[in-house]
Amino acid sequence: MPREGDPTLSLMQRLLGKGSLAFTVEPTPGAERYQGITALDGPTIVESVHAYFRQSDQLDAAIRVDVGRVAKVGAKDGSEWRAGGVLIQRMPGKHAGKSLGERDDEEWRRALALVGSTGRLDLLDPKLGARDMLRRLFPEDDVRAYRPVQVEARCRCSRERVDMVLRSFPAGEIADMVVDGEITVTSEFCNAHYRFAQADLNL
Ligand SMILES: [Zn+2]
Repeated sequence: MPREGDPTLSLMQRLLGKGSLAFTVEPTPGAERYQGITALDGPTIVESVHAYFRQSDQLDAAIRVDVGRVAKVGAKDGSEWRAGGVLIQRMPGKHAGKSLGERDDEEWRRALALVGSTGRLDLLDPKLGARDMLRRLFPEDDVRAYRPVQVEARCRCSRERVDMVLRSFPAGEIADMVVDGEITVTSEFCNAHYRFAQADLNL
């Protein structure tokens, strides 16, 4: 629930209220998905993402995002809202099992400094594509770009899946979930609610 009245909360907390930040990474269609959830309790989305990477035993990572209005010909008021961001992640060293050397640490700190130096206009520039951004960020490095993947908001939950999961629980646990003859399941990813009558689950 939005809590816009409380002055002790950050703008993000006032706008979004209590919630969770969910990540789904699907490397290729059909491959095993990776999912993670963390509380949305930092002062900004960026802080919440950083907290997630710190908590979840991930490789070092850093993210920068920006949002703002940029000029656009033909748009109402002559401008439009845009958002842009960049996330970098430290890859494992070449020698599996061995600790990363000093030179790797230095390279990582250099990458952090370069990403930190990105100006606001770079992230919001409608004409600056991902490839150009990479070249501009790392002008002295041998940058390779992979085919871009479109990002979309989607959840694969369905009534059938939830039904299947519920049936895998022992009857005693199912009985504990019943409230007023019903079980309500909420998808933590998309916030969809599924209600099942106790009788439908043949308990
Ligand atoms: Zn869902």
